[in-house]
Amino acid sequence: MNRATEYLKSLDHPEQAEMGPLVDRVIQDAIDAGSSDIHIEPWDSSLVVRIRLNGVLQELVHLPLELSEKLSGRLKVMANLISYETDRPQEGHAQLDTSSGGVELRMSFFPVVRGSLQGSVLRGEKMVIRIFDPNKRSFNLDELGFEADTLISLKQLLARPSGMILLTGPTGSGKTTAIYAALTHLAQQHGSSISISTVEDPVEYNLPMISQAQIHHAKDFTYPVALRSLMRQDPQVIMVGEIRDAETANIAVQAGLTGHLVISTIHSSSTAGVFARMINMNIEPFLLASSVIGVLGLRLIRTNCPSCAMPYQPEAGYLKLIPEHRLDEASLRQGGGCEHCLMTGFGGRVSVTELLEVDEVVREAILEKLPTRKLQEVAVGQGMRTLWRAGLERVLNGQTPLEEIIRSIPCDH
Ligand SMILES: [Zn+2]
Repeated sequence: MNRATEYLKSLDHPEQAEMGPLVDRVIQDAIDAGSSDIHIEPWDSSLVVRIRLNGVLQELVHLPLELSEKLSGRLKVMANLISYETDRPQEGHAQLDTSSGGVELRMSFFPVVRGSLQGSVLRGEKMVIRIFDPNKRSFNLDELGFEADTLISLKQLLARPSGMILLTGPTGSGKTTAIYAALTHLAQQHGSSISISTVEDPVEYNLPMISQAQIHHAKDFTYPVALRSLMRQDPQVIMVGEIRDAETANIAVQAGLTGHLVISTIHSSSTAGVFARMINMNIEPFLLASSVIGVLGLRLIRTNCPSCAMPYQPEAGYLKLIPEHRLDEASLRQGGGCEHCLMTGFGGRVSVTELLEVDEVVREAILEKLPTRKLQEVAVGQGMRTLWRAGLERVLNGQTPLEEIIRSIPCDH
């Protein structure tokens, strides 16, 4: 039983729970489970507390609805927010000492309504706490679970003196962790002989030996402003948190062409699609083709729980997605659910990657402004293993069920 439930059970009247001990227990439960986020929201008859485990929400405890306001008040006091204000969104952060060390909490409060049986409107708040545990994070490229060939090629790209490396993938696909690991790798390779600077929104972790700047929109410290002035700081490696406008794209491309290694993320549905996205931001194809040296596509997939994974047979419709000649040697496995994985069948997460390296042939294709689909074909012809194929390999060797990659990776045929 988790600590929050134990605490509630120890009380004669759960609605009289003390907020200090309750909040401490909920957060400690989340940290113990290895969770990144806590969601607290009013449902019909209770205030549900859920934690995100391996990317999926799980119920932790149900609290009496009466505690809603007291709990939000307590959290807001911790984050130095206005505790009596419940009808507008608020955001803040707090430090908390736990038994395993200090953690940073980012809190967000959002007013919600819920109609009651009598027709009156109940107001409440949805509260989300994101946990940043510096003791738990390691930014080691070798430990992200990247495929061996991706790892070798990525390290070769990072060894180049100039050019742009772009990462792409949906929110929660591990882009930030991968970028921090890449910067840590560079810092370790070069020691104090290299100058590495970042511009981020926000800075999530402080990395040793790296200058990190945080965007501040209210003070007009935007990506373009920060990047332009950063160029006068003689950096060799520049990390840009995200390219989302033409001006930032333009400065970043120029930096990659003028002797800097630029690493950034960009939103796109595929690695090949990154080029069309940049061309839509008014970047000339010839600049793009000379500046970008690689695009890394990322997804995080859940892996089978080692305690309960067993052979299984996916349903026939899904099974067709596996090439017939691979089925004989395949070891298809799925977790059945046990106490170690809270009955989810999953035990952890691992990265699946697709690395589009820009060689002569791909460069020609970019110059010709080939449509994304065609550009992808050219890259595959040059040896790129797609996300789907990388995911399929993980299915064939029993790391994850077929359904998991169908859920998280676009099928490419
Ligand atoms: Zn299990």
